Amino acid sequence: MVKTETVELIRISVRGIVQGVGFRPFVYQLASSHNLTGWVCNTSEDVKIEVEGEREELEQFLAHLKVKAPPLAQIENISATLAPLVGYKQFEIRRSQALEGKYQLVSPDIATCDACRHEFLTPGDRRYRYPFTNCTNCGPRFTIIEDIPYDRPKTTMRHFQMCPQCQKEYDDPLDRRFHAQPNACPQCGPSLELVDKLGTPIQSLDVLTSASQLLEQGKILAIKGLGGFLLACDATNEAAIGLLRQRKRRPYKPLAIMVATLEEVYRHCYLSPEEEKLLASPQCPIVLLRWKADSFISAVVAPNLKYLGVMLPYTPLHHVLLRETGFPLVMTSGNLSEEPICRDNDEALRRLRDIADYFLLHNRDIYSRYDDSVAMVELGKVQITRRARGYAPYPIHLPFAAKQVLACGAELKNSFCITRDEYAFLSQHIGDLENLETLEHFENTIDLYQKLFRIKPEIIAYDLHPDYLSTKYALKTAEEQGLPAVGIQHHHAHIVSCMVENGVQQPVIGVAFDGTGYGTDGHIWGGEFMVADWRSFERKGHLEYMPLPGGAAAIQKPYRIAIGYLLRLCGEEALRQNINLISQADDGEISLIERQIKQGINCPLTSSCGRLFDAISALLGIRGKIDYEGQAAVELEMIACEDEVAGYPFTIEDEQGIKIISLKELVGAILFDLRRGQSAAKISAKFHATIAQMVTKMCQRLSGEIGITTVALSGGVFQNRLLLRKTVGHLEARGFTVLTHRQVPSGDGGISLGQAIIANFADKNL
Ligand SMILES: [Zn+2]
Ligand SMILES: [Zn+2]
Ligand SMILES: [Zn+2]
Repeated sequence: MVKTETVELIRISVRGIVQGVGFRPFVYQLASSHNLTGWVCNTSEDVKIEVEGEREELEQFLAHLKVKAPPLAQIENISATLAPLVGYKQFEIRRSQALEGKYQLVSPDIATCDACRHEFLTPGDRRYRYPFTNCTNCGPRFTIIEDIPYDRPKTTMRHFQMCPQCQKEYDDPLDRRFHAQPNACPQCGPSLELVDKLGTPIQSLDVLTSASQLLEQGKILAIKGLGGFLLACDATNEAAIGLLRQRKRRPYKPLAIMVATLEEVYRHCYLSPEEEKLLASPQCPIVLLRWKADSFISAVVAPNLKYLGVMLPYTPLHHVLLRETGFPLVMTSGNLSEEPICRDNDEALRRLRDIADYFLLHNRDIYSRYDDSVAMVELGKVQITRRARGYAPYPIHLPFAAKQVLACGAELKNSFCITRDEYAFLSQHIGDLENLETLEHFENTIDLYQKLFRIKPEIIAYDLHPDYLSTKYALKTAEEQGLPAVGIQHHHAHIVSCMVENGVQQPVIGVAFDGTGYGTDGHIWGGEFMVADWRSFERKGHLEYMPLPGGAAAIQKPYRIAIGYLLRLCGEEALRQNINLISQADDGEISLIERQIKQGINCPLTSSCGRLFDAISALLGIRGKIDYEGQAAVELEMIACEDEVAGYPFTIEDEQGIKIISLKELVGAILFDLRRGQSAAKISAKFHATIAQMVTKMCQRLSGEIGITTVALSGGVFQNRLLLRKTVGHLEARGFTVLTHRQVPSGDGGISLGQAIIANFADKNL
């Protein structure tokens, strides 16, 4: 038999994250190994390939294109069509092409790969100890890109002219650094500088050695990283951390730490296989890990908490510094309280000079601010609670072709979301929109996403809360551009964001538990049960309305919330018996609160589950005043004993078709337990069990009436791991399918995704 040879030419388009990840060299090598000729080229839409050769080889080439792609490539789609033969003589990599109006996905920044780490840790290597080593498999991407296609002139690396050796790597399709846009070495690339708080350079033979000595002396350093400045100090030095807290005005907020190696993490924390995998992943987030009692990390890193936020080094600078110091470092966002993370050298010297003693600067500009991501593993699944470095701007996939919608998100832990085609581009964590700096960061980042993904919004979505800066921005922009604006209820957005990331479109029972969300009746919602789909929702039940004496200001002082709950539910007598609360209130404060409640002055009503946690925490004497959002609730969770306990009694009442969970019996029973000397640990455990039972009971009732058996859990309260475990366990035991968050935060950082989807389906006003 004679084998017939058929020569054909196919045109291929590959979409996804296929640029800046070594995809073209991979194609080059694959084509060469199959004796194919033709070319490969990056465009602003895709990677285009033309290959000519024997049919059998072409088929194998196509099959391998997907399965053998480089580790960081994320292929979304490959299309291939036959075309007339050209007669190519060789295979080549062609220049990138910009196509009008076309866009492609942009890679997040990726932690240092093993090959690069080996180089900069090997004495004699030309990149030994070089803090900006990277290759096509690792390094900065999103934080340095100004426009697409992703080429060096469109990044902040354009100021550095490559030396002949780097250029050779860059031009060689067989090199790991072929077209690695941030490619650099000590001869030609960015460099470090150590300065004091006045900006005066510190002379030293080796900047990283000097920096490490300063850290050892207990100094606080502001270190420029990938997406902004981090504040660092010795994580085993209580005095240094105390000083950092004092200067940052953050007495309690947990600080993240960076530990040199995985082996060392084991000395401080317990790790499941899933947690280990997440910690060492290319995204390299901060992972919340259970803290070992014998760890020598200072207790003041995360006061009163069982979990420690830990990350591994994710840039060469971190690797070298951590090896130099020999001790773990506190690494926390370089900002003052709620301002955005500092980005530029001048800005850092101005804004951080009262916090840091020294500054470790470099001259590679950061184009986009990018905080560290935070994640945890619960019930065997990864849950991202702050989504930024390593994840954004990789999109959430949609099962429909979306309109171009800009959803502006909520106020706290803001993110925005832009949809087009089958993608939802959820922005990186922006921060609390409470000051001008953060608002500016929000606006600039919206502009960047619109430019990168060639989006011109047709609809703008916003939260119903009229005072949110994101709402004001949305309404102003809609008016200026003559676009329809769609207001979306906060908890509906929470539930839909959970549905979307689970790919569920049919109606669910939504349980949205959080601190604050503007309700359609003008009250503050936050303990909500609804039937919801992507178009609309119907409120079916909620926690009983309680007074919030003093309004939003009361949130900082949970003891005031507790006083309000006691007065409303149990009367003045019960209040007088609770020493914990009385001792925290100033003279006259209690009578002021009584007046506010009685007369309804500056005393909004709330069904918030977050506030219920706050009230119980204060009632037990755990936390009466807070330093960071959710502190009272978090400490209540931390103190709970791990025994199996029964819950407290509660009733569900029907009021005009809405089911209300009454809190009187619960609070009464907790007071009884307090009086008989029951421990806070036990009471907290029983309280958590009760909330899980409330959810289950309510879902059973609703399911009995409407026949829905899928429940979506969303809202910041479900970052409470004990509550999440108990609630999911109870619901699943009763046959419910339970949707929880994974890639998208369950807190307000995930809201914009829900807003964008609902706006896509909202026909009114359109
Ligand atoms: Zn690398
Ligand atoms: Zn070089
Ligand atoms: Zn919320």
